[in-house]
Amino acid sequence: MDEPRLPVLRSYQSWIANETLEDYSLRYAARSFRKWSPFVIANTALGGISFLALEAIGGAITLTYGFSNAFPAILSVSLCIFLTSLPIAYYSSRYNIDMDLLTRGAGFGYIGSTITSLIYATFTFVFFALEGAIMAQALKIALNLPLVVGYIVSSVVIIPITFMGVTMISRLQLVTQPVWALMMVLPFLFILIEEPEALRTWVDFAGAGSGGERFNYLAFGACIGVLSSLVIQVGEQVDYLRFLPDRSEANQTAWWTAMILAGPGWILIGGLKILAGSFLAVLVLASGLPRGTAVEPIQMYVKAYEYVTGDPALVLAAATVFVLISQIKINVTNAYAGSLAWSNFFSRATHYHPGRVVWLVFNILISLLLMLLGIFETLELVLAVYSNVAIAWIGAIVADLAVLKPLAISPAFVEFRRAHLPNVNPVGCGAMAVASTLSIVCFMGAFGPMLQAYSAPLSFLIAFLSAIGLGVATKGRYYLARAPSLPPLPVGTTTIRCELCAHSYEPSDMAFCTFYERPICSLCCSLDAHCHDACKRPGPALERFRRRYLGRSFEEKIAPRMGQRLAKVGGILLALAVTTGAVFLLTYRIVGLGLEPPQLDSGTLLLRVYVAILPLLAVGAWWIVLAHESRELAERDLVTSLERLREAQHELARKERLAAIGEITATVSHELRNPMGTLVSSVEVLRRSLHEPGPEARGELERIQRTVWRCVRIIEDLLEFSRRRELSLAPLAVDGWLRQQLAEQQGLGSVRLRLDLAAAAVVRADGERLWQAIANLLQNAVQAIEASTPQGGGEVTIATRIEGGTLVLSVADNGGGMEKTVRARLFEPLFSTKAFGVGLGMPLVKRIVEQHGGEVRVASEPGCGTTVALRLPLAARQAGTGDG
Ligand code: ADP
Ligand code: MG
Repeated sequence: MDEPRLPVLRSYQSWIANETLEDYSLRYAARSFRKWSPFVIANTALGGISFLALEAIGGAITLTYGFSNAFPAILSVSLCIFLTSLPIAYYSSRYNIDMDLLTRGAGFGYIGSTITSLIYATFTFVFFALEGAIMAQALKIALNLPLVVGYIVSSVVIIPITFMGVTMISRLQLVTQPVWALMMVLPFLFILIEEPEALRTWVDFAGAGSGGERFNYLAFGACIGVLSSLVIQVGEQVDYLRFLPDRSEANQTAWWTAMILAGPGWILIGGLKILAGSFLAVLVLASGLPRGTAVEPIQMYVKAYEYVTGDPALVLAAATVFVLISQIKINVTNAYAGSLAWSNFFSRATHYHPGRVVWLVFNILISLLLMLLGIFETLELVLAVYSNVAIAWIGAIVADLAVLKPLAISPAFVEFRRAHLPNVNPVGCGAMAVASTLSIVCFMGAFGPMLQAYSAPLSFLIAFLSAIGLGVATKGRYYLARAPSLPPLPVGTTTIRCELCAHSYEPSDMAFCTFYERPICSLCCSLDAHCHDACKRPGPALERFRRRYLGRSFEEKIAPRMGQRLAKVGGILLALAVTTGAVFLLTYRIVGLGLEPPQLDSGTLLLRVYVAILPLLAVGAWWIVLAHESRELAERDLVTSLERLREAQHELARKERLAAIGEITATVSHELRNPMGTLVSSVEVLRRSLHEPGPEARGELERIQRTVWRCVRIIEDLLEFSRRRELSLAPLAVDGWLRQQLAEQQGLGSVRLRLDLAAAAVVRADGERLWQAIANLLQNAVQAIEASTPQGGGEVTIATRIEGGTLVLSVADNGGGMEKTVRARLFEPLFSTKAFGVGLGMPLVKRIVEQHGGEVRVASEPGCGTTVALRLPLAARQAGTGDG
């Protein structure tokens, strides 16, 4: 079964089609790509938990709120993180989709989850900046490298590794893991052996703020707020866990172990690292260094390594190497996850995807900007503000995965394809909006210090409960936009071809597009700017479009959409206002908390705010450019489609005309054949019966005879052209055959015929038909000569020769030649420049030669004559030696 292929509508530049670079960003991770063992994937995912922000956070909250508050907060948040991460890790590993795709199907809808992509992207670049800053601190202490240079170095080194995606990252994590683990554990063993009483100092540490000596609800809540931002880390874990192989009988244990350890299990090691940071910060502080220094991980590990060796140079070297390894390990993950999140965000917002690699660089640049802004000093505050929103997101997802799915209120699987998802699902979007608004209001202190301290857990709780409430209220109606769309597949189908980009993908990544009426892959679907989600509304797509865009008067088109437009403007304005507000709030709080140097004048303050807005402007600039390019692309598509349509229409019209002419001519020529035959014989009889006709009468008789013959040939051409005949092939010794045929041919009038037969070869051919072709060429040549009267007399040369296994049979004349325009239409049926021409000669020649497996080549210059060369394949040798 060979169905005709539809033309390709979309072509991706090569690096988007290259999945080693692209890593199925925006797609389900194909089974064929998931060749790693559960161990390798788990190891890759766990490689990221080397991040030293854990230590920095642990240190910071302990120094501020004391051990009695920090410690219980670390334990309880760790437990919560484990519980919330479990369902997320499970569904992502089971359905092989990353955090963004998961969010779409877990209650947010296709467009609704763009906002969470943005939140997730923020997480990755904020943490990238934190880690980069930590690395720069180490470089400064060890190599005396200025901080700014350190920031740039720590950003740039990440690009080449992350460029190749998970393939390269998994190798890096595999190689560095043992060294990292050893360097991590070693100093603590030494501390425990050499100075176990250090633990006492830690436990007794009271913190800098008031009330840190004892457990205190406010301080405990504040610790929780800072720690809560770490919930999002599961997103980075599942960005890798989606590459786990399918679960099977054989790999059951390995699969579950990998999923749990590298999914929610990250916090087991992560929690220990927070505690380690808490412990080391106290140790550094106790040794007399200032608070600001004590929370720097490089200082912590310098302190720790002092227990391992007495050599200060060695201590510094070890601590630096450890920090560098840790930072590279985490920041490849941050950069990688960020590139996925941005791809997700922009592909939906603009229907344009310049490639994951572009977003990788973009994400790193934003991080660099944050580092230059001095993100590290404001760590706690940034994280606390961020937590409120991020946690609302996680709360809503967990509600869907852990409650609504098991209760069968939402579908059991996670849908991610645009074609099958409603744009907005009120369950997740609503819950997140309510929860983050309320918790931010609380965080700003509107409802007193207690709710302010607990705004983050409150955010989770509100999101979780309201998502369940909304899910039950909407009865899960907004999870799927339509029923499964692909026709039942034959057993054993592994991939389906996307008829838009011509690449093949696994069925889970494909849908049936009702707009183009063909199978489409999830990325082509996401990027399509023409369909306006036609598949999700009932009724035939084109009909709806006609009604929507064509069938109305101007006012009707504009007015009813006014409401829609106002809603859109309102929504976008709200989003912009909130983001700008967040930037101002942050700057305000930074100044309010006295984190900035006291001499800050209003000029510097404005500059600060201005620089803080720059990353937002960068996002906006990309948005505008991509949206514009996407529209241009759409317009170009449209023009191309129109051109194709016009071509198709021309072709159709031509075929119809030919078919009609063919039918008429077949009948007419058939009817004319017999009368012509009668004419031929009558003239012959007449000539014989006339005794001694005068020269005038003889001339007339011959003219009648010639003209009748010409008519007969035209009729034959017409008949020949209107029916298709099979060839009856036989070996033909070309040169001899040609001589014989030409001898039988009546004279060519005043035109001289020259033969140059040098082929001495045999072809398999239908002699009668091949002659028909040559006779046509001869006729054209003679007519061209007669029409132009060349100097030196008209001459037609028929030549044969062998050229690399082909016979070249050429008919050359020194007539008037052809203009370019004539040459271009030479083989068009019914094209003729002659008053008496039918215009079927050359098409017939072409058809006959092609039936013989050959081709026709024409060389012609106006004023210099024409050479038509027929190139025919030679017969196999046996046939050649047979008869000749
Ligand atoms: P017809 O001979 O009925 O016009 P053909 O298909 O044989 O139709 O040729 C199409 C046109 O190609 C001719 O009308 C003539 O303009 C041009 N042509 C073909 N052969 C020659 C030639 N040898 N020299 C110049 N023009 C030619
Ligand atoms: Mg002709």
